[in-house]
Amino acid sequence: RIVLGIESSCDETGVGLVRLADDGTVELLADEVASSVEQHARFGGVVPEVASRAHLEAMVPTAERAFAKAGLTLSDVDAIAVTAGPGLAGALLVGVAAAKAYAAALDVPLYGVNHLAGHIAVDTLQHGPLPKPCLALLVSGGHSQLLRVDDVASGIVELGSTVDDAAGEAYDKVARLLGLPYPGGPPIDKAAADGNPEAIAFPRGMTGPRDAKFDFSFSGLKTAVARWVEGARRRGEEIPVADVAASFQEAVADVLTAKAVRAATESGIGTLVISGGVAANSRLSALAAQRCAEAGIELRVPRPRLCTDNGAMIAALGAHVVAAGRKPSGLDISANPALPVDTIVV
Ligand code: ATP
Ligand code: MG
Ligand code: FE
Repeated sequence: RIVLGIESSCDETGVGLVRLADDGTVELLADEVASSVEQHARFGGVVPEVASRAHLEAMVPTAERAFAKAGLTLSDVDAIAVTAGPGLAGALLVGVAAAKAYAAALDVPLYGVNHLAGHIAVDTLQHGPLPKPCLALLVSGGHSQLLRVDDVASGIVELGSTVDDAAGEAYDKVARLLGLPYPGGPPIDKAAADGNPEAIAFPRGMTGPRDAKFDFSFSGLKTAVARWVEGARRRGEEIPVADVAASFQEAVADVLTAKAVRAATESGIGTLVISGGVAANSRLSALAAQRCAEAGIELRVPRPRLCTDNGAMIAALGAHVVAAGRKPSGLDISANPALPVDTIVV
């Protein structure tokens, strides 16, 4: 069966096509993304109205490119999945409206699905079925969560999440402090390669004995970097961008991997999936690989292209939801900007 996936929760218009085989395996056929990130760069963050308009313009051409890539036509589609939330309300609405139109015109079932579950499900396109249960560390521009995934189509439990900024948000804010472009993850990753991760001892948030074991906090770290940079400027010193980037990146990777490995060890779960845009970070994946190997945990990190927002992740989740026999959502669904992670199908 062919599943079409549509994503529009933030600034990427994504359309993916996958094939669900009878044995439950899911194969990637097409993954087309149109990003409006350049239109937001000069504002230092996503402007919702600009994102909505860009989705509206990009949706149909992106879908046409996906069908051309896969060598399929609309009539080949057996089911449609669309991101129903969480995300920006106006942005989500464009994808939901498009998905409803396709579902009504083609007379196929429609599934409104959770974007965060999609970030996890996408890994099956690269590494095959997920063990049940597994742990997921979801680190993106809007979220930082540690999740127990009993079944990506039906059972996700939050073990912890950020109490303030998301990890990607911290990258974006620190990049701004250092005069690096938006989004900040890739330029910090690049600058850090030439820096010393031990040059500056930045704080590891939420790691004290009284802190919730699996929650995160990145706003203190961001403030510490801001203070350090201000101090150096006041003294008339040149900012050692590479060292600040490397030391900041080390603090983020240290906390994320320490908590994820601890969650796996304490719960006796043998597989950790790291996904979301920040999973593309070179130091995070290297440190996770090292610590997982030491703890005897299998680590799965999708390739960077699958970690950031795309339509294939929604198509993949849709395929697992179809395979699990879940009830379609119906044509009266609405977008839910605050959809909780444990609601996988609306
Ligand atoms: P959400 O999924 O929570 O709604 P989002 O979809 O905007 O948020 P993603 O597209 O998954 O988030 O990720 C974008 C974030 O990933 C940005 O904050 C960006 O800076 C960060 N990022 C991308 N590449 C890297 C990298 N190499 N290192 C660190 N962070 C990175
Ligand atoms: Mg994005
Ligand atoms: Fe995302």
